[in-house]
Amino acid sequence: MDWASRMDKIPPYLFFELDRIVEQQRQMGHDVINLGIGDPDMATAPHVVDAMQQAVADPSNHRYPHYLGSNQFRQAMADWYAQRFGVTLNPSDEVIALIGSKEGIAHLIWAFAEPGDVVLVPDPAYPVYYTQTLLAGAEPYYLPLLATHNFLPQLDIIPQSILKRATMLWINYPNNPTGAIADKTFLQEAVAFCRQHDLLLCSDAAYVEMGFDGYHAPSVLEIEGAKDVAVEFYSFSKPFNMTGWRIGCALGNPMAIAALGTLKSNLDSGPFTAVQQAAVAGLANHPEKFFDTMNVLYQNRRDIVIQGLRDMGLNAPTPRATFYLWFPTPLRMTSSDAAKFFVETAHVMVTPGAAYGPHGEGWLRISLTTSEDRLAEAMKRMKTALQSLKSV
Ligand SMILES: *Cc1c(COP(=O)(O)O)cnc(C)c1O
Repeated sequence: MDWASRMDKIPPYLFFELDRIVEQQRQMGHDVINLGIGDPDMATAPHVVDAMQQAVADPSNHRYPHYLGSNQFRQAMADWYAQRFGVTLNPSDEVIALIGSKEGIAHLIWAFAEPGDVVLVPDPAYPVYYTQTLLAGAEPYYLPLLATHNFLPQLDIIPQSILKRATMLWINYPNNPTGAIADKTFLQEAVAFCRQHDLLLCSDAAYVEMGFDGYHAPSVLEIEGAKDVAVEFYSFSKPFNMTGWRIGCALGNPMAIAALGTLKSNLDSGPFTAVQQAAVAGLANHPEKFFDTMNVLYQNRRDIVIQGLRDMGLNAPTPRATFYLWFPTPLRMTSSDAAKFFVETAHVMVTPGAAYGPHGEGWLRISLTTSEDRLAEAMKRMKTALQSLKSV
């Protein structure tokens, strides 16, 4: 027995070795502070939990869901995009429910990339764009996100030979792992670029509801004519603290939505209807109030960590969105050496930037999904660890 050769294309999981070290440290009795995981520590929005409790008791919800999402869910998403972004969407062919946005991101690549095709993926990035491109037998082409370019890809330097074979361009703002944002000028440039080169523009908007200091991120669908070339992925996971519930949505270009519908109806049966009803309740009752509360919480945590890093001589760009801090490794260490050093010496786990692509090398990511006390404690320990290193 052997598995399919495409399985060998999946790159080794960089967190694996670190997880092993964390486990080792815990077994030795150390209190490890894990700042690696991008998973909200707070409870799901209470009005969503209330709606779920009612929905789960309703026997009409116990059957197979609608493949594309209930009419009610798709209408609620269209209404939210109208209210939040001023974008008009037809719920019947421009909106589809997803079992978490990751599922849709992965499947869209199977629908638009085949052997011989190129998929343009940011570097560093959420690993799914790259890995699914490989699994689909297509070729990922990295677009470096550099601090000197505000972590935006330079579209004008992609070689013509690559563009001729490219079918999709992936963007993700507000960005994981860098915390960077994109303004409308960049989104306009991306839409024009995809129109010119006949590409599907795929916008991963997992963090679109997260913003600090009054910042509200735009949707790519706000750009005039975007729907001709663009599809956006919306997720309930991060803004509503609903990562475990598995509910998301794709919106925009009808051809992309139809492709997802065809593919998905042949391999899954949609998200649990009760979860869709709970998501609808989430959007119905002024979700911005809940988002604001969470954003203030993350902003306070952000400020503690920024200060803590400065105190140890590390300069992190101050993010205006997401719950990530992206900062250069100390003493020119590689990212995995630095991560190993902090977990072994300070019992603090941070994520090595190289896990997100070659241009993540030299950087580390801290996730703000831990309490202020623990973050402050982590900063203290990291500082002591660095001092011990410098004094030898
Ligand atoms: C968390 C995350 C997702 C996945 O969200 P789900 O809706 O829970 O599947 C997608 N993209 C990025 C960049 C993320 O960080």
